[in-house]
Amino acid sequence: MTTKNDPIPLLDLRGQYEPLREEIRAVMDRVCDSQWFIGGPEIDACEKEIAEYCGCQFGIGMSSGTDALLCGMMALGIGPGDEVVVPSFTFFATAGCVSRLGATPVFADIDPDTYNLTAANIKSKLTDKTKLIIPVHLFGQCAEMDEILALASSRGIAVMEDSAQSIGAVYKGRKACSMGNLGTLSFFPSKNLGAFGDGGMIVTNDENLAHMCRLLRNHGAEPKYYHSHTGGNFRLDALQAAILRVKLPHLDAWSIGRAENACRYNALLDGTPVKCPVIARGNTSIYNQYVIAAPNRDALRKHLAERGVATEIYYPVPLHLQECFRQYGGGPGDLPVCEKAAGEVLALPIYPELSDEQLERVAAEIRAFYA
Ligand SMILES: *Cc1c(COP(=O)(O)O)cnc(C)c1O
Repeated sequence: MTTKNDPIPLLDLRGQYEPLREEIRAVMDRVCDSQWFIGGPEIDACEKEIAEYCGCQFGIGMSSGTDALLCGMMALGIGPGDEVVVPSFTFFATAGCVSRLGATPVFADIDPDTYNLTAANIKSKLTDKTKLIIPVHLFGQCAEMDEILALASSRGIAVMEDSAQSIGAVYKGRKACSMGNLGTLSFFPSKNLGAFGDGGMIVTNDENLAHMCRLLRNHGAEPKYYHSHTGGNFRLDALQAAILRVKLPHLDAWSIGRAENACRYNALLDGTPVKCPVIARGNTSIYNQYVIAAPNRDALRKHLAERGVATEIYYPVPLHLQECFRQYGGGPGDLPVCEKAAGEVLALPIYPELSDEQLERVAAEIRAFYA
């Protein structure tokens, strides 16, 4: 039982697990009884089902969303001397993987409403070394893919969609992940489709890239112990795959539940100084996060924390200002929209099992702060 003044966490997965408990434990038993933990039928079925859900022909299970980005870039042949355009306002992994491969992340600014890359901002960063653009579909909605794909194809540049936060999001009738050369997913527990540990997937309609990703996730071996390429161990395991298969049929309902909560917040916060999420025309968001832009954000966050409402800042430091990327020469003022966002954004609890009372309490505390 939750009562009136119980803390409201940013995310509580127990409500999602409870109705699925028996089914999930049964499939875990099935995997344990088979003792088939790496590869095998659960992985094959999971890849097929998730690729199909994303409107793609091929799915390649990965050990995490980060490894999906890394392996995808390896399959595209990204390396030293190459430039990869990424947003500066995203989770670290998007750019970290570029850097790990010896390529140069080139940070671009974002749209102030959607927090996503725009074609215009990408265009100003292109050089003859640009090999790849990674639009991140941040917080649950897709970037302006028509414009980005047109720009990329006019220059012969590949596109990899980082859809870690946007599985199931729709852009003009197309699913996130299905529009670029490759798309990457994360099954980190807090994503809309979360595993019971780390996991990820690459999806694509390109058979050659799919083959290369499959090869690279297994140390580039084909056949076993004969290595044509240097890959890694980027495999998804069978227990995670089996759990994801139980959850996948519920994903749309969960995402709709989040969107309904978002709608509720939008109404409840109307007339306050906070800016509610803006969903661009043609987009359906899955609201992996509900992110407001709030004046006096840090004080608001403290006010909410003191009243039992958990929030999070995604992301407090744009990547062009991170210490480990100093070598790329970025400085304050380079990307003003990213830098402004980092100072204003605040994610509120949005998980589908939140009650009306909880949503109302969060909104009432925000109202009280600005009163
Ligand atoms: C979560 C996330 C990742 C990384 O996924 P992991 O599974 O945690 O490695 C990459 N990019 C974005 C935008 C993410 O939100």
